[in-house]
Amino acid sequence: MAAIGFIGVGNMGGPMARNLLKAGHKVKVFDLAAAAVKVCEEAGATSAAGVTEAAKGVDVVVTMLPAGQHVRAVYLGDNGILKAAAKGTLFIDSSTIDVESARAVAKAAAEAGMPMIDAPVSGGVGGAAAATLTFMVGGPEEAFAKAKPLLEAMGKTIVHAGPAGNGQAAKICNNMVLGISMIAVSEAFVLAEKLGLDHQKLFDISSKSSGQCWSLTTYCPVPGPVPTSPANRGYQAGFTADMMLKDLKLAQEAAKAAGATTELGADAAAIYERYAKAGQGGLDFSGIINMIRDAGR
Ligand code: NAD
Repeated sequence: MAAIGFIGVGNMGGPMARNLLKAGHKVKVFDLAAAAVKVCEEAGATSAAGVTEAAKGVDVVVTMLPAGQHVRAVYLGDNGILKAAAKGTLFIDSSTIDVESARAVAKAAAEAGMPMIDAPVSGGVGGAAAATLTFMVGGPEEAFAKAKPLLEAMGKTIVHAGPAGNGQAAKICNNMVLGISMIAVSEAFVLAEKLGLDHQKLFDISSKSSGQCWSLTTYCPVPGPVPTSPANRGYQAGFTADMMLKDLKLAQEAAKAAGATTELGADAAAIYERYAKAGQGGLDFSGIINMIRDAGR
């Protein structure tokens, strides 16, 4: 069993840390929010006074932070965890961040003699609680092999996507498909409404035809056809529109840096930005259908 430092125990990190405890590991947590730390302590974790203390005297450090700037701040510099940890400590960053920051931090880790992987997740808060997350991993083979048993305690599907940063690359490519496809499905349902075609009929046909996709069959943006989709509970998230916007912006940043043309990705980012600016960012991202419907009125 490993001694693990876990930094960032919010909506995702909290249940992930608790699953590591359940698997029998010793977990020491740190978060800027005292309430988040308390929930983990109640589940059997110890707490650290700061990020450097969380990285000392452990075999592994897991980080689950909001964005690239937080990851850089926690890992790098004189007060960073790469400096504080013992040589050979394994680092797992599961935050969703920009590819450039992921590669910069991985380079600093390699230079400091620390094995490190980027391992962003999909599956949301429900997947984190049920230990069914999908981990998309970038980094050296040896670091992946060392991390795999721990990832298996928190997730179900673990894929090594290549060298450092490739986990983040996989995450933003996947979520760009998701953002675009949710808008496409929403536009189709709104058009169907105008044409007098029933939601359920469109669903029955498209879910068995070439329009079939996850946004339609798992996360259908209208109430009825998929009873578990957020549309049936007033678009309560789920996966918020703000989170979708974050990932679409990361995809646009990466596309610009890599010289890739992603016109629909850019359109999707602009559409979600409008939705967030209209004050709806806290709702599930499938709520975008309501803005699309209203635009036609
Ligand atoms: P969250 O805001 O609930 O948790 C982040 C935590 O990090 C907070 O508790 C915050 O206090 C803490 N934090 C920030 N800076 C810190 C620092 N310097 N030291 C210690 N703690 C610090 O966010 P979340 O929903 O848990 O998301 C975490 C990451 O997972 C994000 O990158 C997000 O994009 C990604 N993600 C989220 C979901 C989801 O459905 N929530 C799904 C997939 C991926």
